[in-house]
This record gives sequence, structure tokens and C-alpha cells, in this order.
Amino acid sequence: MVDLVQFAYVVSAGLFVFALYWMNSPKTAGRSVTAGSVAMLIAVGATWIQPEILNHGWIIIAIMAGFVVGVPLSRVPLTAVPQRTALSHSFGGLATGLVGCAKYYLWAGGDVAQLTPFRTTALVFEVILGFLTFTGSLMAAGKLQEIKWIPQRPVTYPGQNFGNLALLAAAAGLGLLLVIDPVGPWSAMAFPAIVGVALLCGVLIVIPIGGADMPTVISILNSYAGLSAVAMGFVLDNKLLIIAGALDGSSGLILSIIMCRAMNRSFTNVLFGAFGKVQKSTAVTEARNYKQETVEGAAQVMEQASLVVIIPGYGMAVAQAQHRVRELYDQLTRRGITVKFAIHPVAGRMPGHMNVLLAESDIPYDVLLEMDDINPEMPHCDVALVVGANDVVNPAARYDKSTPIYGMPIIDADKARMVLAIKRSKNPGFAGIDNELYFGDKTFMLFGDAKAVIGDLVKQLSGNSSGH
Ligand code: NAP
Repeated sequence: MVDLVQFAYVVSAGLFVFALYWMNSPKTAGRSVTAGSVAMLIAVGATWIQPEILNHGWIIIAIMAGFVVGVPLSRVPLTAVPQRTALSHSFGGLATGLVGCAKYYLWAGGDVAQLTPFRTTALVFEVILGFLTFTGSLMAAGKLQEIKWIPQRPVTYPGQNFGNLALLAAAAGLGLLLVIDPVGPWSAMAFPAIVGVALLCGVLIVIPIGGADMPTVISILNSYAGLSAVAMGFVLDNKLLIIAGALDGSSGLILSIIMCRAMNRSFTNVLFGAFGKVQKSTAVTEARNYKQETVEGAAQVMEQASLVVIIPGYGMAVAQAQHRVRELYDQLTRRGITVKFAIHPVAGRMPGHMNVLLAESDIPYDVLLEMDDINPEMPHCDVALVVGANDVVNPAARYDKSTPIYGMPIIDADKARMVLAIKRSKNPGFAGIDNELYFGDKTFMLFGDAKAVIGDLVKQLSGNSSGH
């Protein structure tokens, strides 16, 4: 039995590694999801058949509870996936924290020899990271979901970072006392105090961070949840937990680093910089007028182009316009026009957001170009069609130090011969700043919902072609 379980764990760990590897490309992402799900199924099954598991009723109840919560969560719209992911991390954090509590009280109550210094250290790490991830992820999900009583803007006060670090140091100090004497007279107070401080830290660490940085924070919390699972693996002496937790921890960390780089921000700036505080931009100081274009005019311009570059952003996701975009792509390519897509690494609200949407509408992968590959082509582009993107095409990022996006590499839409921009209003993008691209001489606005406007463009183009 032991050999079978260990073998199943090795298979499961291998599948987890491949699941991560296959996530690297939209072509293999589906396979990745299957591999991850099968790996989890094997892990749960192999754990369940162990002879120490006596009360199967509780496991069945837990699995049913997982279904009741998990199935509706799997149906949230793509735009809500970041907060859904944060919720999953909070469940992971809560689970490791609770297992840590159960183990501590079980061992402290009867089998004190199990609380070796090494295991108690791992247990303290598990509990601090687990509970911190729980409340931190709940706060992050609440901010992204724009829940009324959770402020979206960064909440800051003097000495905040110092206060947070002092709290974490206090939790670590109490943990050290527990390691030295796990069941001393004061340990009945120390353990719950560690749990309380960790829960408080999760809230206090996330409130100074603005909504715009939440996807990065979620990714960091993902890595905390993974590290907490690693610690739990040491506590329970479970190698699969150690491997899976390490994969989770390192991939979460790498993802946050990639996102910070794409926004040209440092890790410390994301965690302690209170990004998203209302700041005054100098990019567009006085009220200026936009030039507008009609759908008919825009269709004519595009028909005469040789190269059209479509730049999708968060607005395409909100409008669910990806299928109309595909129809537009078909109309243009049918006329011999070259159409490419410019994908900014942080367009939308989660990494790969645009790729997922465009893959859903079967746009060929080879016309989806990363920012560094498309930017050299932008000066030769006849029409740059911006579909609900804003910050990722804002030239202020290049020079305006007062803007929160300063230094973020952008798609060079302003270098195209002409820009057609679809958005609903004059409102700014996620960073809350005006976009001078929209006031440029070569830019023409098509105000309206992206799905409706592109649908009209497609109708116009198909009408034109049937008229020929
Ligand atoms: P954005 O700056 O948020 O702008 C999106 C634009 O879409 C808005 O100006 C909005 O203008 C328009 N829009 C919304 N709904 C629309 C609809 N139904 N139809 C047409 N237009 C619509 O988006 P972005 O350019 O993609 O930039 C992403 C931002 O998120 C960046 O600041 C980035 O740093 C941040 N971020 C992203 C990630 C990530 O992983 N992707 C992570 C962290 C941070 P109207 O309201 O006028 O329509």
C-alpha cells in the first residue's frame, strides 16, 4: 500500500510539473488544465486510501462542500477571474492554517514528542503564511469585486510599513517561543495570538495597495499559499505537498516578477508604494477635443490599408467583443489586408487575458504578436485599431514622471499612420489618467461599446463587399 501511494504521488507530482509547463502556450493550455486536474484527483485518491484514514464520512462531506462552492465559482465571467483566483488562494490559505491548528492542538494535547523544534518551526510558518494569505486574499478579492465596504483606493497612514513589519516580527517572536517550549504554560496564549496576528497582517498588508496592483498582489499571495503548503508538507511529512507547494510558490513569485517588469515597477513599489493614490497627471492639462469618425468612414479607411494592427485591451473583455473581432479579421483578410494583433503583457486584468479571449474566437496564434515583436512594425502600420485599450497605449508612460504608469513599456500605437480608437466615453483607463493618444492629430475616436461598434464595422464591410 505504501509503495502504491508513493508511486501515485510521484505520478501526480510529474503531472503538476507538466501542467505548469504546458501553460506556457495557448496551444497546450487545455492539456495543462487536464493534467493539473488528473494530478489533483490522483493526489486526493492516494491520500484517501491510506489505512490511517478511518472516518470517510468527513471526507465525503468535504468533497461535497467543495463541489457546492467550486462549481458556481467555475462559471464566473472571464473579467471576474482575478477575484475568483484570489478567493481560491484564500481557501488554500485557510486550509493550511486550519490543518496547522488541528495538528498543533492534537500533538500538544497528547503526543508532545511530535512537536520537535523542526516540526514546530514548520508549523509556525504554515500557520502564519496560511492565515495571512486567507485574509489578504479575501481583501484582494473584495477590492477587485469593488465591494462597498472595502476601499478600492490605497489606505495609508503614517508608520504603516513599520507597523506591519513590527506585527510580523511579533508573530515570528511568539513562534520562536513556541519552538523553544511548545507546551509551556503561556503557549495556550501564544498559539492563538500567532493566528490572530497573522489574520490581522493579511488585512493590513493589502489595504495600502491600490486596485491596479491587485493582480500582482494576488500572484504574490499565491506564492505565500504555496510556501504555506510546503511548510505543511514538512509538518505532515508529505512529499507531494512539498513539491506541489514549491511549484505553486515559485510560479506565483515568477509571475509577479514578470508582471512587475511589464509595468516597469519594482516589487517593493508594488508592496509599499500605495500605487493608485490619486495623482495629478501633467500629460493632458487642459480640456482638448477629440476627433471622431463614423463607422462608414472607419470601414473605408480600413479597406484601403495594407497593414492593420488591432490592439485589444480590457474594454474588449468587458464588451466580450472577441467574436466580432474575429469577424472583422475575416472581413479584412478576405480583402488581402494583413491583420496583426498587438498583445501587451498586462493588457486586461490578468496575464494572458487577451490571448485567452482571442484564442476563444479562433484567431490564429501566429498573428498574435508580443509587444517587442509588433512595435518595430508600428511605423509601417496604416491603421492601428485600439479596441478598449487605454493605459497600454498611453504615450505618457514614456516621459511623464508624474503618472503612475511612467516607465511602463507601451504598444507604439501613436507611431502608426492612423489610429482608430474604440471606447465608450472620455473616461480614463485603469491607472486613472488621461491618454494623449486620443487627442493626437492622427487619432479618430469611435465612441461606443466595443462589441456594438465592431459589429457595425463588420456589417459595413460585408455590405461594401456585397455591393461590389
Ligand atoms: P485600461 O487602461 O483599464 O482601459 C480599458 C479601457 O476600456 C477603458 O478606458 C474603458 O474606457 C474601455 N472600455 C471599458 N469597457 C468597454 C466597452 N464595453 N467597450 C469599449 N471600451 C470599453 O485597460 P488596458 O489598456 O488593457 O490596461 C490594463 C491596465 O491594467 C494597466 O494599467 C495594467 O497595468 C493594469 N494591470 C493589468 C494586469 C494584467 O495582468 N493584465 C495586472 C496588473 C495591472 P470607457 O470606460 O470610456 O469605455
